[in-house]
Amino acid sequence: MELLFASGNKDKLIEVKKLLSSEDIKMPQDIGITNFEVVEDGETLKDNAYKKAYALYKLTGKPVFSDDTGLFVKALDNRPGVYSHRYAGENCSYQDNRDKLLRELKDKDDRSACFKTVIAYIDENGHDSYFEGILEGSISEIEKGSGEFGYDKIFIPTDTDLSLAQMTTEEKNQISHRARAMQKFKEFLNL
Ligand code: IMP
Repeated sequence: MELLFASGNKDKLIEVKKLLSSEDIKMPQDIGITNFEVVEDGETLKDNAYKKAYALYKLTGKPVFSDDTGLFVKALDNRPGVYSHRYAGENCSYQDNRDKLLRELKDKDDRSACFKTVIAYIDENGHDSYFEGILEGSISEIEKGSGEFGYDKIFIPTDTDLSLAQMTTEEKNQISHRARAMQKFKEFLNL
């Protein structure tokens, strides 16, 4: 089954292809849509996930899914949450976001946090469905590992000492927020 993934994020695509055990997943640029940009100004992950999926569904009329993920840090009143992408400002890098988070947590004892992913799926008839996955853990004091994706270098899942960036894609995919949401999505699609 051909599925469109409403995202421009190659890091996510690598994980998603493995999670759905399918190479037949296309991003906008693979079907000739070169400037797929959606303003993620929703108040929830679900709003943003729907917005991204709907933008691509409107252009193609084909089955589309998207994911929206946030990092929720307890001692920061659940920030950056839905603003995880631009936490350190417009056009900031992954590194800027990690640096800001480590600065804000400098004097905090409670470093617990969780990642949440919401997948939005719109079928060929325009009907929407949602799937959620959560990964509990804590924010490390220093960066660990070499994977550059997002906050992976500073997120330590519960029950391990490794950061997500110290794991292989396969190891991360055993436990991650995205994997958990994707598993529910897979069951829904009977894949
Ligand atoms: P998005 O809105 O779903 O693209 O995610 C917002 C931000 O969260 C991204 O820009 C990344 O910085 C971060 N993020 C999303 N998924 C992950 C992940 O699996 N690990 C680490 N950071 C992530």
